[in-house]
Amino acid sequence: MPHYRAPVDDTLFLLNNVLGLQSRSNLSGFSDATPDVVEAVLREGGKLADEILAPINLAGDREGCVRHPDGTVTTPPGFKAAYDAYAGGGWMGLSVPEEYGGQGLPQVLNTAIQEFASGANLALGMYPGLTQGAIAALLVHGTAEQKTRYVPKMVDGTWTGTMNLTEPHCGTDLGLLRTKAVPNGDGSYAISGTKIFISAGEHDLAENIIHLVLARIEGAPAGTKGISLFLVPKVTVNEDGSLGGRNGVSCGSIEHKMGIHGNATCVMNYDGATGWLVGEANRGLNAMFVMMNEARLAVGVQGLGQSEVAYQNAVAYAKDRLQGRALTGAKAPERPADPIIVHPDIRRTLMQIRAFNEGARALVLWTALQADILHRSEDPKERQAADDHMGLMTPVVKGVLTDRGFANAVEAQQVFGGHGYVEEWGMSQFVRDARIAMIYEGANGIQAMDLIGRKLPKDGGRAMMGFLGEVQAFLKEAGEDEAMAPFTKPLQASIGDLQQATMWLMQNAMGNPDNAGAAATDYMHLLGLVALGYMWCRIAKAALAKKAEGDAARWDAKLVTGRFFMERSLPETALRLTRIKAGGQTTMALEAEVF
Ligand SMILES: Cc1cc2nc3c(=O)[nH]c(=O)nc-3n(C[C@H](O)[C@H](O)[C@H](O)COP(=O)(O)OP(=O)(O)OC[C@H]3O[C@@H](n4cnc5c(N)ncnc54)[C@H](O)[C@@H]3O)c2cc1C
Repeated sequence: MPHYRAPVDDTLFLLNNVLGLQSRSNLSGFSDATPDVVEAVLREGGKLADEILAPINLAGDREGCVRHPDGTVTTPPGFKAAYDAYAGGGWMGLSVPEEYGGQGLPQVLNTAIQEFASGANLALGMYPGLTQGAIAALLVHGTAEQKTRYVPKMVDGTWTGTMNLTEPHCGTDLGLLRTKAVPNGDGSYAISGTKIFISAGEHDLAENIIHLVLARIEGAPAGTKGISLFLVPKVTVNEDGSLGGRNGVSCGSIEHKMGIHGNATCVMNYDGATGWLVGEANRGLNAMFVMMNEARLAVGVQGLGQSEVAYQNAVAYAKDRLQGRALTGAKAPERPADPIIVHPDIRRTLMQIRAFNEGARALVLWTALQADILHRSEDPKERQAADDHMGLMTPVVKGVLTDRGFANAVEAQQVFGGHGYVEEWGMSQFVRDARIAMIYEGANGIQAMDLIGRKLPKDGGRAMMGFLGEVQAFLKEAGEDEAMAPFTKPLQASIGDLQQATMWLMQNAMGNPDNAGAAATDYMHLLGLVALGYMWCRIAKAALAKKAEGDAARWDAKLVTGRFFMERSLPETALRLTRIKAGGQTTMALEAEVF
C-alpha cells in the first residue's frame, strides 16, 4: 500500500528561512500569518493529506466514478467524507477574503496545502482545486450580487465550481468555440452547446455545481474576440440564496481514461440552460484567464505533488528491497543481499527526483508569494514586478513541473523493477495520474509557445530583465563566498546559456517563426532549470545559516542535495541551448506526406 507524508518541515523552512514570509507583514492578511499560525495551518493541512486524503487514493483509482442512467455521478467510496473534511476544515477559503467567508490568509499557504492535497490524492484534490479557481474568477470579474450569492457557498464547500472551455472540435484553439448564448430579455442568457472533458462536471460531493462556461453571444464576432463567460448553476439559485429548480445542464457521459479515475471527466450538455454573464460581453477569455492562471499554477503544483509521492514510495522500497551487493563491498553482510539503495544507479534516480522536488517546491512557493504581492501590495512598482514574475513563471511552473513530475514518477516506478509495473504497489497510479497534468490547462507545448511568443517579448522583455537582474544581484552579493561557490558558479554558467538562448531567439525568431516554435519547449525547460538553480542558491544560503545554529545533519543533507542539482541537473541548460541554436530547419524540412 503506497504511503504519503506531507513535506511540512521543508515547506516551513522555505517559507520562513528562504522566502522570508514574516518580512512581508506589510501585505494585507500577512500580519495574521504569524510563525505559529503558519506552522499550525501547515501541520493541520499535512494531517488532512496524510490521514484522510492519501488512504483513499488507491481505492479511488480502482473504483473510479460511476455515471448512472439518470445522469447522476457517484464518486469512489470515501470521497464524500474526505471532501466534507476538506470543506469543513475551511481549506477552500484559506486565502479568500473574510467578507466572503474565507480566512484571508496568504495565497502562498494555500499553494502549500494544494501540494499536500495533490500528492496525497490528485483526483480528490481537483474538486476543491477547481472550485478555488472559479472563486478567483468570480471575485475578480463577477458582479457584487454574483459574489455575495455564489462565493460564500463555494468557500464553505456547499457548492463546487468547474471551468467549461473545451468542445469536441475545439481545445487549444478556443476561437473555434460554438456554444451559444441567446439573451432571454431579463438579463439572463439561454446557453446551448456541448462541452467535453469537464473535470468535476457532475458528482455527489456537493448540493450544487457552479459551472463557468465560455460561450458566444448570438451575433458576436467570430474567433476569440466574440467569446463571453457565463455562470451556469446546475440548480438555479433564488435571490435569497435558496436553491430553485434544476437548470438545463446535464452530464451526458463520463470518460474512461488513463488516470485520475476518482475525478469525473464529463461531457456536459447545455440545453438552453439559464446563465448569467460574468464580466464584459466578448471579454470572456480575459475573465477565464484569471481562473486559468490560478489553475496553471495549481497544475504545476500537481506535477510536484506526484513527483513527491512517487519519490517517497521509491525511497521506502529502495531501503527494503534486497538485490545484489554494493560495488564497494557488502553493506548488510548478515542479509542475503544489500538493499538496492546502495546501488549508485538507484541513488542517481532518487537524488535526481529529490533535488528537483525541493527546488521546485521553492519555485512554486516563490511564485505564489508573487501572486500575494500582486493582489495585496499597496506599492505599484512592487505590484508590477510581481505581475511580470507571474507572467514569466506561470508557464514555466505549469510546463516544467508537470513534464518533470511525470518523468520523475516514471523514474520512481523504475526503482520498483517489475513491481512498479503491476498495480499492487501503486506506482502505476502515480505515473497514470501525473500524465494528465502535462495536457490540461493548456498542453505543455502551448505553455512553451505562450512563454516565448507572449510573455518573453511583453513590455520589451521587462519580465526577463527583472528576473535576470534579481539573480545577478544575488550572485553579486554572494561574491567570493567560498561556501556558496558550488552553487553560484554553476548558476553563473547557466545564466550565460539563458542569455545566449534569449539573444538567439531575438535574432532568429522574427524572420522565421518556426525557429521560435521549434525552440519553445527547450527554452521553457532552460528557463525552468535556471529558476530552479536560483532557488537552490537561495536554499543553500539559508541552509548554511541554519547549519551554523545546529542540527548539522539535516542541513548537510540539504546542501548535498543542492550540490547534486547544481552538478548533475543544471548543466542540462547547455544541451537545451545547443538544441535551440540548431534552429527549426530539420524540424520543419520534411513534407507532411513523408511522415
Ligand atoms: C482528464 C481531462 C480533464 C480535463 N478537464 C478540463 C476541464 O475541466 N475544463 C476544460 O475546459 N477542459 C478540460 N480538459 C481539456 C483539456 O484542457 C484539453 O484536452 C487541452 O487543452 C488540449 O486540447 P485538445 O485535447 O483539444 O488538443 P488539441 O488542441 O487538439 O491539441 C493537440 C496537440 O496539438 C498541440 N497544438 C495545438 N495547437 C497548437 C499550436 N498552435 N502550436 C503548437 N502545438 C499545438 C497541442 O499542444 C497538443 O499537443 C480536460 C482534458 C482531460 C483529458
